[in-house]
Amino acid sequence: MKIAVLPGDGIGPEIIKQAVKILDAFSLTDSIEYASIGGAGYDEFKDPLPEQTLNLALNADAVLLGAVGDWKFDKLPRDMRPERGLLRIRQALNLFANLRPAIMFPELVHTSSLKPEVVSGLDIMIVRELTGDIYFGQPRGISINDNGEQEGINTMRYSESEIRRIAHVAFKTADKRAKKLCSVDKANVLEATELWRKIVTETAIDYPNVELSHMYVDNAAMQLVRDPKQFDVVVTGNIFGDILSDQASMLTGSIGMLPSASLDENNKGMYEPSHGSAPDIAGKDQANPLATILSLAMMFKYTFDDQDKFKLIDCAVKKVLLDGYRTADIYSEGSKLVGCEEMGDAVVERLKG
Ligand code: NAD
Repeated sequence: MKIAVLPGDGIGPEIIKQAVKILDAFSLTDSIEYASIGGAGYDEFKDPLPEQTLNLALNADAVLLGAVGDWKFDKLPRDMRPERGLLRIRQALNLFANLRPAIMFPELVHTSSLKPEVVSGLDIMIVRELTGDIYFGQPRGISINDNGEQEGINTMRYSESEIRRIAHVAFKTADKRAKKLCSVDKANVLEATELWRKIVTETAIDYPNVELSHMYVDNAAMQLVRDPKQFDVVVTGNIFGDILSDQASMLTGSIGMLPSASLDENNKGMYEPSHGSAPDIAGKDQANPLATILSLAMMFKYTFDDQDKFKLIDCAVKKVLLDGYRTADIYSEGSKLVGCEEMGDAVVERLKG
């Protein structure tokens, strides 16, 4: 087992430290090797994805990533910005399938901005395509147009094979859950997503047990806050998935609770919290490490097929919440306010029984 650990920027190192405590509790610290990415990569090697980091990730079985980004890098040329390192590593590892569960823990029902009856029992899996769409499509850039004014261009692009492979992941995921798949697109105005709808519909023939529905993205955004429990698995493209998964995260109280897995064809994966580097709270011991810890749990489930360790971590997180431990983002009166370190320690304690 070889795990590349990339803490990144902002709160990245703090939250990764808590996940590493868990690897330590499993006596797996010998399996890990650290490297820099994002702004940390730029600071060290003038590259947001240094060559040695990419090689380490390519040779590892799985990657555990904190987060990248800091406002201080916003003036760098686009290719040198931290976020570019993230896009490049996803593409280099061919991590086309991003799984983002949005689960409402019963203890946190009152931290959601929605009514308890709307979110209680919520369990959605968003399957987001991660290596295509407008984030990668060419042509792109800012240039001077024929009228002599600046023009920004991005291109939404999806090939049939890209859509088909993510559709298979989504149908298989739904097949193991409540067998309902909702494909989200904007087929009424965007040809790229008209093709998306056609290919997803064709793929459904291989999965007769899964009920497929389609929804336009604007309606999906509305339905997610009106009646989120109507969804089981949602599959969508890169940009719509980016936005809808953040929206879904807030249904559960805090983005600090939401893990993610990004997988290739062979279930090699990169595991990271759904949130960013939160520069506003970096270095203050205020970050919630649970999304990162739950991402580590997903690593055991999807890449290492070790359901025992997945369940151990998942149960330890549930126990910590049941025992009233809360970081500031999920705090409510009467619970025990803790920092990032103490939250990590509390999870490790409960792992040991
Ligand atoms: P963000 O997710 O970093 O923060 C949004 C809000 O959520 C902030 O108020 C932050 O304090 C809070 N938050 C986030 N994670 C938290 C946690 N674990 N515990 C408690 N509170 C938490 O998004 P942003 O502010 O839009 O972006 C900040 C930087 O992160 C930018 O440079 C952006 O490009 C980058 N970013 C990186 C990733 C990634 O690494 N995958 C994803 C999104 C944004």
